[in-house]
Amino acid sequence: MEQDIDQVILTAAAIAARNRELAADLAADYAGRKLTVVVLSNGALFFAADLLRLIPLPLQLDSIGVASYIGEKSEAVELRSDLKTDVQGRHVLVIDDIFDTGRTLQAVSQHLRKSKPASIRTCVLLQKEVARETSVQPDYRGFAIENVFVVGYGLDYNEHYRNLPYIGVLKPEAKRTGPRRKQ
Ligand code: 5GP
Ligand code: MG
Repeated sequence: MEQDIDQVILTAAAIAARNRELAADLAADYAGRKLTVVVLSNGALFFAADLLRLIPLPLQLDSIGVASYIGEKSEAVELRSDLKTDVQGRHVLVIDDIFDTGRTLQAVSQHLRKSKPASIRTCVLLQKEVARETSVQPDYRGFAIENVFVVGYGLDYNEHYRNLPYIGVLKPEAKRTGPRRKQ
């Protein structure tokens, strides 16, 4: 797995340090509010698990399954599983791994509005610096990155590499041949 990585963009230590800052902001902003965190799986699982353990507030946890990428090509946003809890009147914080075109968070926010939450905000680990077709912006962001395809810390290439502890760019040959069996 490691041998398929061309370049590490964000180390585990850099991610952990930024998570502490984000958690402090979120803890201050959501103190005293009825908070439900909605994690978009699978991509945001690792980020959310680390971030939420740094937020010392009572909160409810839910998740939505979303698929928007086949390989590197952006596809239509597809909701694969829905909320299991009632978020009516609650403050919803949606957590995703990366904000690219913004279509995923726009579609998810639109869907969540039907459940009548008191508010909806979004938190992403990464945001790509690209021209956007949508006007939505994440409310909280870990890092801005260049417009490159990244894997690790939850982010996949055809479901592989999610469990890398850092974020990196794949070698071109890893994309052609797929992940090596010996991980
Ligand atoms: P958007 O809907 O904002 O275009 O894309 C968001 C989703 O696309 C993310 O949740 C993520 O699943 C996927 N995505 C966007 N850029 C990347 C990337 O560089 N690497 C990986 N692995 N997934 C990405
Ligand atoms: Mg995703």
